Amino acid sequence: MARLPLAIWKGPIPSSNYAAGPTTKIGTVHHVIVGGADGALATFKNGANQVSAHFIVCGPGDSSPDGTIWQLLDTGDCCYAQANGNYPPTAYIGIETSGQPTTAMTAAQCEAMAQIDAWASTTHHFPLVGPVAHGTPGVAAHCNPNGTPDPAWGNHSCPGPARLAQIPPIVARARAITGTVPSPSTKDAAHMISATSTGLGYYIAHSDGAVFAYGDAKYLGGCNPGASAPFPAGVTAISIEAHPGGGYYVLSSTHQVYAFGCPYYGAPAS
Ligand SMILES: [Zn+2]
Repeated sequence: MARLPLAIWKGPIPSSNYAAGPTTKIGTVHHVIVGGADGALATFKNGANQVSAHFIVCGPGDSSPDGTIWQLLDTGDCCYAQANGNYPPTAYIGIETSGQPTTAMTAAQCEAMAQIDAWASTTHHFPLVGPVAHGTPGVAAHCNPNGTPDPAWGNHSCPGPARLAQIPPIVARARAITGTVPSPSTKDAAHMISATSTGLGYYIAHSDGAVFAYGDAKYLGGCNPGASAPFPAGVTAISIEAHPGGGYYVLSSTHQVYAFGCPYYGAPAS
């Protein structure tokens, strides 16, 4: 059984819509729904359709907030999303993204994709590179890396040029999530600590936004210089609070709230 801790479980789906595993996965495939998350979920819940994905990433207009991750299928099982890319020896994890192929994903959706890719890479032991050629381990698009349809994968141009172009920065972010934490630039500046709900670990944040995780605390990103969510100029202090369900919030002295692995509900204007 392999389920992403950050995801909301929306399974099971009918057995006619997937092939039972467990099966080795060599990467992920980024798709676009050409519609909303709720419609895709209904489609995958209907056993007459014989289609599915492992994950759906919600976007603007969906019933769940932008960037919410739904998991429908254990990643050990095989989804029906990309023809030859569903099955061994070239079985991939399918991820559907809410929206249209002509529209780029939101920042929240990109962060969700990076979190899925990072977790999947660690869980299923494939490299964080991409977009890769079909059949190659890593992060793939439904179309070929150059945007052309692949007849062996159903002949689709999905996810479209805008979302295809987002794969390299998503992969870079996923590598940052799984890799070593970037060094802070101001180790002697103001900093703060927050314990995890278990009492078995804690986070330390530095005023430049760098976050460090110890014990059972899991590093899910920071505002470190060079990271995906750098602080704007003028931040002089930072606050960090572990979320009871996992993840953590970072608050800057200029009122930016960053949510890493937990829901974001807005912030006051600075
Ligand atoms: Zn697709």
